[in-house]
Amino acid sequence: MKIGCPKEIKPQEYRVGLTPNAAREAVAHGHTVLIETGAGRGAGFEDTDYTEAGARILDTADAVFAEADMIVKVKEPQARERKMLREGQVLFTYLHLAPDPEQTHDLLASGATCIAYETVTDDRGGLPLLAPMSEVAGKLAPQVGSWTLQKANGGRGVLMGGVPGVGPARVVVIGGGVVGTQAARVAAGMGADVTVLDMSLARLRYLDDAFRSEFKTAHASKGNTADLVAQADMVVGAVLIPGAAAPKLISRAQLATMKPGAVLVDVAIDQGGCFETSKATTHDDPIYDVDGIMHYCVANMPGAVARTSTIALGNATMPFMLALADKGWKQACADDPHLLNGLNVHAGKLTYYAVGKALGIDV
Ligand code: NAD
Repeated sequence: MKIGCPKEIKPQEYRVGLTPNAAREAVAHGHTVLIETGAGRGAGFEDTDYTEAGARILDTADAVFAEADMIVKVKEPQARERKMLREGQVLFTYLHLAPDPEQTHDLLASGATCIAYETVTDDRGGLPLLAPMSEVAGKLAPQVGSWTLQKANGGRGVLMGGVPGVGPARVVVIGGGVVGTQAARVAAGMGADVTVLDMSLARLRYLDDAFRSEFKTAHASKGNTADLVAQADMVVGAVLIPGAAAPKLISRAQLATMKPGAVLVDVAIDQGGCFETSKATTHDDPIYDVDGIMHYCVANMPGAVARTSTIALGNATMPFMLALADKGWKQACADDPHLLNGLNVHAGKLTYYAVGKALGIDV
């Protein structure tokens, strides 16, 4: 099969769909790999890294789309890219179609077979192609939060780990899933006093068993949440209700109960945010102040560490990419129900129920 990887064109997107390592594996499996020139540069991969892996470099995205049987990307195809897709071609990337009728319409019109990273599942009910980006965002949260806590950035001027004779920062993480666990571990590693809140007792049980020596856990009742938030120097919002907008867990009125200069890091901003005062920001201008409380609400946090994120995503997508290339999409999806769950669009038809329901299109 001919596998194509164009350069990402969404603003501020520096990741790339195929790493040189993934290209090398695909070539070893007997496939042809076509990379648009410069596609990997934002993640620190030069064209020569790909040619050494056995890939061919093409001058334009048009050439990649024209020649490839399967396109592997990171972000959803932009309008210009959607025009280049054709019937019978396979697209493997993040799509997030439910809130995006325009993209859905174009993908249906293209006749291509579109498999979305975010709906591929695993045996434990997880989302294996979303998890690596949650791990990255979770680990980044205390890092960006501690920078925001510095006085010059509007924060309380509190050091995460304290020093001998001065106590550490108090960090509260709401939601103890993939993001929350990684955020809590890093914050604890920086020396902060960390408590993780979750609604799920099963999850709290697991966290307590696995991480009791690193951080505390608490049930996310309204009372517990209000008490802990009032004492916090930093709150990380990391909740997810699959398929739904994030619930608002801190109201504007509650900000008045917090310490002046405390920091809210809303990682759940890509689902609308879990604080009433959250609004999406960008890496160029990431923080803002509401009533003396500093907010960090960047919707694509993994983009800040494009190289780590690209390699982490590539590790997770590689086995699925190889199965699609080796067997063809039909057989690969027939053999693996989890990959089949990724199928969102095929030959002009929507094939994913939740997207159809959200957009009012028959599936
Ligand atoms: P996850 O499903 O692994 O974990 C979510 C946790 O939230 C679960 O343990 C669940 O029990 C808990 N929860 C749900 N409702 C709650 C409530 N009311 N109070 C307390 N806990 C509650 O999800 P995840 O992978 O950790 O993702 C968390 C959020 O981070 C998602 O919104 C995801 O989209 C977002 N995210 C954002 C970025 C970014 O760049 N901003 C990157 C990756 C993930």
